[in-house]
Amino acid sequence: MQARHQEEIAAARSNFELLFDTIDDLLFIVDKEGKVIHTNETTQKRLGYSAEEIHGRHVLDFHPTDQRDEAKANVEAMLAGKGDTCRVPLQTAEGTLIPVETRITAAKLNNQPVLFGISRDISERLLSEQSLTESEQRFRQLTDNLPLPLFEINTEGIVTYGNKKSSEVFGYTPEEFADSFSIFRIAIPEEAQKAQKNMAIMARGERSSNNHEYTAIRKDGTTFPLVLYSSAIITNGRFSGVRGVSVDLTDVKKAEETIRNMAIKERMVREFQTLIDNIPGAVYRINEEGKTTILSMVKEFLADFSKEEFEAGLFESMELIHPEDRRIVEHSNRTIGKTTASATLTYRIVSRGGAFRWVEDRRTPAFSSKGEFSGIDGILFDITRRVKTQEEKDALESRLRNTQRLETIGTLAGGIAHDFNNILTPMLGYAEMGLSSLAEEDPLHDYFNEIIHAAERAKNLVGQVLTFSRAQESQPTTVHIPTIIEEALKLLRPSIPATITIQRDIDAAARNILADPSQIHQVIVNLAANAFQAMEESGGILSIKLHEMVPDRQLRHLLPTLQKVTHIHLSITDTGKGMDEATLERIFEPFFTTKSVNKGTGLGLSVVHGIITSYKGEITVESSQGKGTTFHVYLPVIEDKLVAKPEVEPVQGGNGNILFVDDEQATVTMMKTLIPQLGFTIEPFSSPQKALERYHENPGNIDLLITDLTMPGMTGIELAAETHKLNPDLPVILITGYDKDIELTTPINRYGISRFLKKPVRRSELATTINEVISPHNPTAA
Ligand code: ADP
Ligand code: MG
Repeated sequence: MQARHQEEIAAARSNFELLFDTIDDLLFIVDKEGKVIHTNETTQKRLGYSAEEIHGRHVLDFHPTDQRDEAKANVEAMLAGKGDTCRVPLQTAEGTLIPVETRITAAKLNNQPVLFGISRDISERLLSEQSLTESEQRFRQLTDNLPLPLFEINTEGIVTYGNKKSSEVFGYTPEEFADSFSIFRIAIPEEAQKAQKNMAIMARGERSSNNHEYTAIRKDGTTFPLVLYSSAIITNGRFSGVRGVSVDLTDVKKAEETIRNMAIKERMVREFQTLIDNIPGAVYRINEEGKTTILSMVKEFLADFSKEEFEAGLFESMELIHPEDRRIVEHSNRTIGKTTASATLTYRIVSRGGAFRWVEDRRTPAFSSKGEFSGIDGILFDITRRVKTQEEKDALESRLRNTQRLETIGTLAGGIAHDFNNILTPMLGYAEMGLSSLAEEDPLHDYFNEIIHAAERAKNLVGQVLTFSRAQESQPTTVHIPTIIEEALKLLRPSIPATITIQRDIDAAARNILADPSQIHQVIVNLAANAFQAMEESGGILSIKLHEMVPDRQLRHLLPTLQKVTHIHLSITDTGKGMDEATLERIFEPFFTTKSVNKGTGLGLSVVHGIITSYKGEITVESSQGKGTTFHVYLPVIEDKLVAKPEVEPVQGGNGNILFVDDEQATVTMMKTLIPQLGFTIEPFSSPQKALERYHENPGNIDLLITDLTMPGMTGIELAAETHKLNPDLPVILITGYDKDIELTTPINRYGISRFLKKPVRRSELATTINEVISPHNPTAA
């Protein structure tokens, strides 16, 4: 049993030793004196001793002499439970050192207290530890010199590492930063909490990193924006702090703001452009050097110009501005910067074809921030339509004014002419009577002739005035104007100088008008005579045109009397000296003339005007000084021809009893002599009432009533109406000095009124008329 037990023990020991020997570490057992009593093979091999050489020696003998005390102390500390390893190296037989980490455990062997020792070779570990330190140094160097602040904090927020930059950017010294510096001090108080919260998130492991913007505060109290990139530091799987890098956002923020401002500016520019594009005008800018820029290009303004041409020509060369308007613009350009006042100019822009547009230029001087004049900002509005409309309106108004003035003058002149006729009637009458009672050899014969001659001229003059005032009776018939033009030119030809050429553009097929041919003749002669006179010195071309036309809306707007029916348009153009505005205003006034006494009476155009308007026509004039004049005459055509009145052979002498009434005593007296000379008897009255009484007494022996039209109490027409009641067959001759008020068709053929006679009545005219009226062969109603 004993032997067996011994055997077992031996087997266990050899097994234990076998195990011992397979271990790489150096194993040894030491007795209580410190003598080695057992080692494994590794120990023997590494130290270079045999088992016998080792066993029995003190364990400290295998340590370098100078470290034996340290080793001893370490071992004692270990045995006292105060340390766990000893780092003193072992020394080989050759004297080299093996770095080891040794653990010692107290145990019992064969009931004897022993120490088990196990030394592990740590040379490799030491090597790697050394390289780790080197890389750490490199890392520190790197981070220290990093141009960004980099720091590490512990879980309390105390800085455990900060590179150079980190203390610098926050205005602290590295020492201050190293001295339990709480990182939360670099956030403004309002944001410290936010920083703590963000750290707590990482501490809880919810995030391993994050980045946030903060407003940092420097030691001196100034602040700046930063972004902090932070990541959790995990040691042995546990959160142990935060590593952070911060980036100063000052520049970034500035850049952001710049970009934002630029965006705002861009938007403003865009909106401004839209705005000016929407303005119904061309916005422009003239800089200090006078260069123009059109900011919004309204197509109408550019017309057929390119933008560059328009800009260069508008204010720089002024080529686009109407020559007559350049002074206004130049003056404004010169003076506008003198005060801050803006200006509104109106001028014309000439387009390529020579046509022009009216523009209104609203301009304001621009000043630099220093208050120096820096150019002009303005808008051009096209106001051509407005100006044209205004011009038309002005023309219409001026025409109306002229018409009214001419009417007033006409009334006045007509009244005077009427009185003149009353005076001329006895003058001519007596002179003719005187002449007829004198022999031709009689020296008084010539005197009377002169009186008649002068009175004749006066009568003619009065006749013209009356024509002008349309107080003239006329005999309208069908008139073919081309024929009359030819006759008139024939008449004028001898007085036309060779330097004047006549051009005709006459539509011979143009229809007729209803008028007094002699009056139309007068119109053409007067207009042509004026034209010749205007070209007398310079020579030139007179052109006469005649065409049919229907007045368009524009013309009817200007000349409202014109109807929308076919008209004859007669125009007489000369290339003479033309007229100025002041002359144009007054040409139709009677006695208005710019000519010397023997050349013009000033009646020509007033007569023309009177004639044209009496036929519901119109006359206009265009003239420019030095270039010439055109008169336009419009007269309505007639479709059907009037039957011409049969000519009546004048009967020389006759007989019959005539009831004569005129409120003018002089005329009555004159007629008392004249009528008997013509072979008739006269019963003269100066009162229509008296005359009517006489007629009532014995209407039978009155063959003819000759009565003045205008009389106090009773007009000639009223008188005729009365006599007509008694005897509808009684013929009546109405004498008028001024028959403006009489509608031509009204009294004629009514109440027996079959003829008008105009004052002053010529002896022969009176004779013929009386004979026509009371001749039994002549129908009283023509
Ligand atoms: P008169 O010819 O006797 O002067 P008018 O009535 O015919 O009188 O003309 C009035 C004025 O009108 C003239 O004196 C002249 O100044 C002006 N006038 C008329 N026709 C023309 C014309 N064709 N060219 C220039 N001036 C004209
Ligand atoms: Mg004239």
